Amino acid sequence: MRLDKLVSNMGFGSRKEVKGLLKKGAIQVNGVPVKDPALHVHPEQDEVSILGERIIYREFIYLMMHKPQGVISATEDNRDRTVIDLLDDEYRHFEPFPVGRLDKDTEGLLLLTNNGKLAHELLSPKKEVPKTYYAHIEGVVGQEDVERFAEGVTLEDGYFTKPGMLKILKSAPISEIELTITEGKFHQVKRMFEAVGKKVIYLKRMTMGELTLDESLALGEYRELTDEEINLLL
Ligand code: URA
Repeated sequence: MRLDKLVSNMGFGSRKEVKGLLKKGAIQVNGVPVKDPALHVHPEQDEVSILGERIIYREFIYLMMHKPQGVISATEDNRDRTVIDLLDDEYRHFEPFPVGRLDKDTEGLLLLTNNGKLAHELLSPKKEVPKTYYAHIEGVVGQEDVERFAEGVTLEDGYFTKPGMLKILKSAPISEIELTITEGKFHQVKRMFEAVGKKVIYLKRMTMGELTLDESLALGEYRELTDEEINLLL
């Protein structure tokens, strides 16, 4: 990899700014000041430092966010703030993107990464990665709904869903439930409840595959995944 690319990718400025640093002799490779931006370096082997501070190279970033309502699960939007707008520059330069979408009014676990292969696998319908949601439902959710979801329900567009595991936490005019599904169709949880004549009024994703929302994250906060969590996903 070119030296200027490595330094820039690690968040130390644009390629042009990095060239400026090189000119000033601020960048060393294996202890030797270097001026050539095109110098080929091995990120894992060569020691690159800026003003004596070693740069630790890494290609991928994995972030767990507690997504709040009101932000869009996208990298850009003309009208609304996106989950990327919630990130510090320190993470943004890795160009992470959300793995799948949560609706604007849905909260909870959102994984952001720049590892396209991992994202693809987690989202692949073939992998049937389970996702568990906690929800408040307008309407009394009962055993008949548990049974219907266990068989799969027909959405308004005729699509017959895979089985969903519904757990009733509170059966009341406003019910509380947990639903685990292995698909990710547009508005799927909301549409599954519509299919049984009920309405989701609050939705929060709790898990995705082996990953569980860290409840110590306040809404809008995020953190890097631990090595253990990354290994569970890879
Ligand atoms: N199902 C929905 O209806 N909305 C979401 O945001 C996620 C799953």
